[in-house]
Amino acid sequence: MVLPLALGCDPRPRVGEVPPRSVDAVAVERAASDPARVGPLVLAHGGQGSPASRSDGPAVAVDRGFARLESEGEDAVAAAIATIESLEDDPRFNAGTGANLRLDARSIEADAALMDDRARFGAVAGIADLRHPIRVAEAVAASPHLLLVGEGAQAFAGTLGLEARDLSTPQARAKLARGYAKLFAGEAGPWSEWDWRRHWNFATPAPAKLDEAMALLEAAEAGAQGEAPDETPDETKDTVGVVVRTAQGRYAAALSTGGTTLAIHGRVGDVPLLGAGLYAGPHGAVAATGKGEAIIRELVAARVYELLARGQTPADAIRLVTREISPEEGVGVIAVSDLGWGTGATSQMAWAARDRDARHRADTWIQRQDR
Ligand code: ASP
Repeated sequence: MVLPLALGCDPRPRVGEVPPRSVDAVAVERAASDPARVGPLVLAHGGQGSPASRSDGPAVAVDRGFARLESEGEDAVAAAIATIESLEDDPRFNAGTGANLRLDARSIEADAALMDDRARFGAVAGIADLRHPIRVAEAVAASPHLLLVGEGAQAFAGTLGLEARDLSTPQARAKLARGYAKLFAGEAGPWSEWDWRRHWNFATPAPAKLDEAMALLEAAEAGAQGEAPDETPDETKDTVGVVVRTAQGRYAAALSTGGTTLAIHGRVGDVPLLGAGLYAGPHGAVAATGKGEAIIRELVAARVYELLARGQTPADAIRLVTREISPEEGVGVIAVSDLGWGTGATSQMAWAARDRDARHRADTWIQRQDR
């Protein structure tokens, strides 16, 4: 299918247009590539569907990540974590503070993951009340396990001495209110054909009508601070992600999310699944965002990475993989390799990139290309 993609990529001159090539041809291009193309870089997204005008969030985050890169001896993972923490603290994004509420209007189930180019991977799914879920993923990466979920993950997080926090925000409640309105109007895609009430798995009863659902939100709001923002676009997913390249050509990727807008207890998306939401290796790093179910089905990050390893530029690799995905599903990807960096999404997506020379932001730089 031919899709409109909002694309961003390394603005420096490209080696050339990149049709699929043999691995031998790639080696030639690498040898011939401009050394200025490689160097430390941090590229972060604020989620598929997040308006480009929110790129100030990723911009602050990549500055923090880049500063960490320069101060911590080029540690790609430390830079990725610093970037994600900054976005987890920004209530406009669906990660950490600001994470989506589940359908009961009370629970938050956060997922996070990180991976580096030595195949170090750690992920966590379904945890609540922690300011920085990415720190739990970091601790899992240092354990003999790869992925912890639910109660066990929460108890594991309890051993780490991390800061607890109520993550729910007026933004998250406003977003769920819009989700309820669509759900009860029968305009919520696959949810409209699914008997979700029959499979309701929360402790509180399922709302039968829109006003009962809104009453759940009112109860959640009682005693809560802050007011809902006037304007937040519908259908934003707003997960946060980052890819990092060091001066030595080391790579890392990380993600953090509160999941999709409509989700029952126990739903897990692409974020903590190796090769679905993220991938890193000696050829680069990739982080995805958008409808987790579509990203898992298409194995988005692993497929983009495979193309990087075959010598496609990040922008071309993203385009080749995401063009198969319907815009209704909604997917965005960021990637970096030694041929540059790229971003692409089936909608708007806030992002920012920082290297030694410059900082780029989606809102000041985005190009729309109809393909
Ligand atoms: N990919 C995330 C998920 O499905 C959502 C997002 O990217 O915003 O859990």
